[in-house]
Amino acid sequence: MFLHKNIRLLMAGIALFAMFYYVVQKRTQTINEILGESEFHHPIKQMVKTPDPALKDKDKLGEMPLSAPSLDNQETEKSDTKAIANNIPKNSGGPSVFPGHVMFEIKMGDWAVSYGDVLLGKISSQNPIHSGQFKPPSPRLWPSAEIPYVIDQDYPYKELVEDVIAYFHEMTPIRFVKPTDQKDGLIFKLADEHCYSYLGRVGGYQPIFLSEECRGPQIIHEILHALGFIHEQSRVDRDQYLKIIWEEIKPGYELQFTEVPPAFMISVLGSPFDYNSIMLYSSNAFSKDPSIAVMKSLTKKEIQPNRDGLSKVDRQRLYKLYGK
Ligand SMILES: [Zn+2]
Repeated sequence: MFLHKNIRLLMAGIALFAMFYYVVQKRTQTINEILGESEFHHPIKQMVKTPDPALKDKDKLGEMPLSAPSLDNQETEKSDTKAIANNIPKNSGGPSVFPGHVMFEIKMGDWAVSYGDVLLGKISSQNPIHSGQFKPPSPRLWPSAEIPYVIDQDYPYKELVEDVIAYFHEMTPIRFVKPTDQKDGLIFKLADEHCYSYLGRVGGYQPIFLSEECRGPQIIHEILHALGFIHEQSRVDRDQYLKIIWEEIKPGYELQFTEVPPAFMISVLGSPFDYNSIMLYSSNAFSKDPSIAVMKSLTKKEIQPNRDGLSKVDRQRLYKLYGK
């Protein structure tokens, strides 16, 4: 009788374990599917695809085909930095950018990056270019304030990201949620260097790459890029507010101070220039000599970007774009 009871207990235990294993396995599979998708998902292919009228239907965005040509075959001006410097006429002391184009450089091996930390997409490893110009499509905002997110299992500072997410929940209308069946979202991934993010929603689970140097404020900054926000000093109207001292910028970093194509202004339209934005560079950023400014204010307001978190205007913009 006693033995019989134990066997029944054992069987119940096995059944419970099997149920638990099934649930955990199912959950793991779901996350792995998302992680796996992000590995071979090349949003640049979507970015350069000829607009398809069917894509106006929000529900179909997740089904965008990946058959479009990559960045390598696009209207990219294939040239190295020297060729750009030699062939494109300069104006106002900075590099000239073709209308509607952005300058990019290759980082992390095969990623095209513009403005220092904005991902455009991957190029093929056979492509020998180091930099060039590319005509990107208009950035897309998210359809609602609810944004699914995943933290990659290899990223070691999960609490840091969770703290930033709690900060967004406290200060903004954005609500980061665990993914269920959403096709688009963010995935925080470990990087070897710097911090990088796409601009706006590109489709699929788009990476925000964070190296060990990326702490709270940098993560907030990269999330804002993913929500559609550009660097304040790259606004098309910035010359009314700032003077860029091109000759004081460290050679090779000039493209960080170029203006965005007008379509990139989607997140700041109607909002005044913000000298306190977390998206604004410090006045001596990328200066040959840190004691010398590369940006000077043309108004009475000083360049004092917020480095603890969002500025008042950053929050206003988030409420305007994503608030109910
Ligand atoms: Zn940035």
